[in-house]
Amino acid sequence: MDRRIYGLETEFGLTYVPSDGRRLTPEDAARHLFKPVVNWGRSSNVFLENGSRLYLDVGSHPEYATAECDQLTQLIAHDRAGEAFMLDLVEQAEDQLLEEGHEGRIYMFKNNVDSAGNSYGCHENYLIPRKIEFKRLADMLIPFLVTRQLLCGAGHLINVDDQTKFVFSQRADHMWEGVSSATTRSRPIINTRDEPHADAEYHRRLHVIVGDSTMSETTQLLKIVATDLVLRLIESGEIYHDLRLENPIRSIRQISHDFNGQTVVRLMGGDEPTALQIQWILFESVKEFVARHGAHHDHVERVLELWERTLRAIETENYSLIDQDIDWAIKHKLLHGYAQKNSLPLSSPRLAQLNLTYHDIDPARGLFHVLKRRGLASSVVSDADIRQAVNNPPATTRAAIRSKFIRAARANGRRYSADWVHMKYEDEPGGIVLCKDPFATSDPEVDKLIDLMSQRP
Ligand code: ATP
Ligand code: MG
Ligand code: MG
Repeated sequence: MDRRIYGLETEFGLTYVPSDGRRLTPEDAARHLFKPVVNWGRSSNVFLENGSRLYLDVGSHPEYATAECDQLTQLIAHDRAGEAFMLDLVEQAEDQLLEEGHEGRIYMFKNNVDSAGNSYGCHENYLIPRKIEFKRLADMLIPFLVTRQLLCGAGHLINVDDQTKFVFSQRADHMWEGVSSATTRSRPIINTRDEPHADAEYHRRLHVIVGDSTMSETTQLLKIVATDLVLRLIESGEIYHDLRLENPIRSIRQISHDFNGQTVVRLMGGDEPTALQIQWILFESVKEFVARHGAHHDHVERVLELWERTLRAIETENYSLIDQDIDWAIKHKLLHGYAQKNSLPLSSPRLAQLNLTYHDIDPARGLFHVLKRRGLASSVVSDADIRQAVNNPPATTRAAIRSKFIRAARANGRRYSADWVHMKYEDEPGGIVLCKDPFATSDPEVDKLIDLMSQRP
């Protein structure tokens, strides 16, 4: 598929720290956070004018799902826009709380585990052709996804056998199944619930829920582009490597826990390559594929170079090759540097605090952001790109239609509802339009509803 729809969903961690000793439950803090959202859209589940979805599910992990994107920098800018919206909500909630006599700070983290051990996700969505046999796709994709943490894990500290270890991934210890249709109770690597948000005859939405959230934009770029390239390889039907794992869930943990990539992974066929070898096989296949077919967008070369450099860094244990580009390596340098300077063991609570603060989305406090400001972390998009994404939908996808509809309804004070595929003018009998094509940027039926909205008294 040359042009693909992508979407990223991010759930955030939330903590309220009182300075007056008066505690709030995380649920209470989340409710305060979403007050302006509920005021704006009469619900804690809304579609915003930039085409994205902002919502608060049960519990206290607010989620931002980007609008449909078809370009990589656009996707990254829209994902970062989610952080901007959350920061704005935090500021408003703190003011509101102060008015109610609560003095304190709300902290928001783009990470995947909270202090109580709950895990929350970062889901990736890829539009794929329906005609690909799903089992074949999963067979080839899962070995890639299980070893992909070498490229784009967020890095984490965990306790194993009374020892604190630095591991690749935050999510790896919370995955329990390979493929499943439920996202929360059992945590699959690929979610098979079949909601394509597109014409189901031709398309599927591949819903990958195994990844860590990423702070680094270059890590994000590598994660999405490498996955897209592996999907292209699978879709082409040209190459099939039987790398099916005997036990993906056991492997995903072992790979995360083994920081030199040398974990042996047992394949169903009996072979025992290391995690790193599996990655090299996939990388070489993709590289060959690109050499044969050419790059299909501007970021392919950059990503192939970074992919190779990352595998090389693990192989040679020379992490300085990637310590400005890959989340786990940036964090590894930060934590080990601090531990050494202060003669602290990895088990020190101060290191646990750094591990958390790395993910704080507040640009003034968050350690990732501090490093970036000091020129110690690379980036992909500019502040202007992020501002553009806060205020505007991607112009090249269905999000543009949704945005136009929502703006018109609000400007005219009309009752409306919207989701990924529907747009409904509530006061018009039959005033509902189904937009099944995620690549469409205009829809005459939606324009008719918009005309009606502006003509009515
Ligand atoms: P859950 O939060 O329970 O996992 P979900 O994954 O079904 O729900 P949303 O949180 O609403 O759904 O997010 C859907 C994501 O899919 C968004 O990022 C959106 O941009 C993206 N998306 C929408 N249509 C398509 C499509 N046709 N193909 C791929 N991605 C799509
Ligand atoms: Mg979601
Ligand atoms: Mg999801």
